[in-house]
Amino acid sequence: MTGAGGSAAQTGPAHPDGPSLVWLRDDLRLGDNPALTAAVERDRPLTLVYLLDETSPGIRPLGGAARWWLHQSLVSLAADTAALGGRLVLRRGAAATVIAELVDELGAGAVFWNRRYGEAERDVDTQIKASLTEAGIVAHSFAGSLLFEPWTIRTGGGTPYTVFTPFWRACTAGPPPRTPYPAPASLDLPGDTDAASPARSTPATLPSDDLDSWELEPRHPDWADGLREAWTPGEGAAQQLLAAFLDDALPRYGTERDLPAQQATSRLSPYLRWGEISPHQIWHATDVARRGLTGAAASSATRFLTEVGWREFAYHVLFHAPDLATANLRPGFDAFPWPPLDERALQAWRQGRTGFRLVDAGMRELWRTGSMHNRVRMVTASFLIKNLLIDWRLGEQWFWDTLVDADPASNPFGWQWVAGSGADAAPYFRVFNPELQAAKFDPANEYVRQNVPEWGTGAYPQPIVDLGETRRAALAAYEQVKNSR
Ligand code: FAD
Repeated sequence: MTGAGGSAAQTGPAHPDGPSLVWLRDDLRLGDNPALTAAVERDRPLTLVYLLDETSPGIRPLGGAARWWLHQSLVSLAADTAALGGRLVLRRGAAATVIAELVDELGAGAVFWNRRYGEAERDVDTQIKASLTEAGIVAHSFAGSLLFEPWTIRTGGGTPYTVFTPFWRACTAGPPPRTPYPAPASLDLPGDTDAASPARSTPATLPSDDLDSWELEPRHPDWADGLREAWTPGEGAAQQLLAAFLDDALPRYGTERDLPAQQATSRLSPYLRWGEISPHQIWHATDVARRGLTGAAASSATRFLTEVGWREFAYHVLFHAPDLATANLRPGFDAFPWPPLDERALQAWRQGRTGFRLVDAGMRELWRTGSMHNRVRMVTASFLIKNLLIDWRLGEQWFWDTLVDADPASNPFGWQWVAGSGADAAPYFRVFNPELQAAKFDPANEYVRQNVPEWGTGAYPQPIVDLGETRRAALAAYEQVKNSR
């Protein structure tokens, strides 16, 4: 890295006792936030900052639904912060430049953050840490977003894991994840005591962008009504959702988690994506709930934590394969003979007009609410890749743009899993039959009716492909890469 990275080194003279800066990223919460806890313990006035970095090289621009979520989440976080007497400052620009400016404006003595795991993000953070340290400013990073730091889990041979079950066994063989930190009781915002620099900003006066000026919310047209109806972003809502899930659905999670009409899953994924809740909070609350359960209900709790483990695995894989969203994990798949793109088929899939009820229900749920049930994600992804023979990367991009939980690890991981090109992936010959999947997992067509009101009437589209024919074509194409590694 050049330019932007270097600018942090231009930070003015160090102020060892200067205020603390807490740089929030994918951890938009006050509870169980190790970076914030460390800053509070430093016992100096502190400022929280969120910066929108659309400039640093390699950082993937957020999709539309994610931008909508981020806006709401920042509104919620700013209110929660103010309620504790603190302040959330918003800035936009290349992180290295903005952090250097903030440190300078504030005369900050220390900067704290929780780690990110994508390669471009890690590069940015490493550069900033080096520049700050060189300038005599404390820079500390913490483990806040994952239960197990990806580099700490290794096979006996010292290599990363490529199969989930042994990975999760290794994770859970050690001590349990640490208990969550409480949110601070108050955030200290007194004025600057640096009499030598009267012009310097204080944590209370540091200029902040107007969130609306970032234009994260869609305007022309405003397509976010369905998202507003479906979701209340923010830390408080995440905690309420977790409590309600543990109370109600957890005991039946094991048996009903695959049934999209049943509301038997937690719906916590966007909150985890944005760090409005931490996996540690989920882990410990579930563990407590599990102690009150027996038999199948207790196994349900274990199953739920195992699903949280898949998120850990996706990050483990991303950490070791940074281009997960663009490159086949199994390079042999580079030879997959994708036919020329059928734009009309892709469009029918995006719009939920394929003539296959479960696929269409899922794609319309996604468009309306910014989310889709896990079982249906697998079915819609399989349909795109294996019945339409469309490259998984195009599906991944659509999900990236439309999901409120669009996650840099779980999304490409999920797509490569379905394609068969990824880690511990579904075997190439597993082609979901969307009609059988509908009959099995939505037998009364409840989910289908919720999302495709015209299903069963003459207004519903005819199937755009023949399932048998396309399955055979997919298997023939997969034959060409099946033995590749
Ligand atoms: P629950 O069943 O309540 O599970 C609890 C938590 O565990 C989830 O919130 C999630 O954080 C994690 N989790 C569960 N299943 C998985 C999984 N298979 N992989 C990784 N983490 C998991 N999840 C995302 O968070 N973001 C994505 O962008 C995303 N894209 C996906 C794309 C495809 C093609 C597929 C097949 C799956 C994808 N998933 C993604 C995983 C999964 O579908 C969602 O995490 C899940 O549907 C979220 O619903 P929930 O919170 O009610 O899950």
